[in-house]
Amino acid sequence: MTRTFTEDRLVVASHNKGKVREIAALMSPYAIDVISAADINLPEPEEDGENYIANATIKARAAAIASGLPALSDDSGFEVMAINRDPGLYSARWAGPDKDFSLAMAKVYAAVEASGSNDRNCRFVCALALCWPDGVCVTTEGYVDGQFIWPPRGDKGFGYDPVFQPNGYDQSFGEVDQDWKHSVSHRAKAFEQLIAQCFQNTKRRG
Ligand code: IMP
Repeated sequence: MTRTFTEDRLVVASHNKGKVREIAALMSPYAIDVISAADINLPEPEEDGENYIANATIKARAAAIASGLPALSDDSGFEVMAINRDPGLYSARWAGPDKDFSLAMAKVYAAVEASGSNDRNCRFVCALALCWPDGVCVTTEGYVDGQFIWPPRGDKGFGYDPVFQPNGYDQSFGEVDQDWKHSVSHRAKAFEQLIAQCFQNTKRRG
């Protein structure tokens, strides 16, 4: 599915300021005003989809219909193969109400140890959904593969970055230069596909 983005405003269907900033930066080459769901008081729908694409689509479609503007949303997670791709869709929830990722990483480590498996393959996944008020949605998915490492290393990233070492490198996502991370990440890969499908012919700034 492709559709050229021709509008001059885009709602980022997230109340997370970090995500809105990152998406605004990615959209900065285009003549588009990026506004957040929080700016226009949109409610946060329940993310009860069966996969990342479904969750991203739920959020983007709800924001597009409520605002009358095209809306972009993402959903992401960390998957560890030895434990059947957990925490997966529940990556944020494993950190508990205090969003404690030291706790979440320790839970993953305990589960991997308990599994008895030597498999340390893992990946980050990011799904993007761009929905228009007429109901049309374009979705993409990006991945970055790596190894689960213990103990956690580095404090530059967020979430599960300190226990993720991308394949072919000897530093964790918590240790690497964050601009480099953003150029190779699951989110970057999903964005590359979205740009190819929707923004090739979109008006650029100045
Ligand atoms: P959501 O996409 O807001 O539902 O959050 C998914 C969760 O996955 C986040 O809270 C993070 O814990 C984790 N996650 C997603 N992307 C990354 C990343 O680039 N680094 C570290 N953790 C991530």
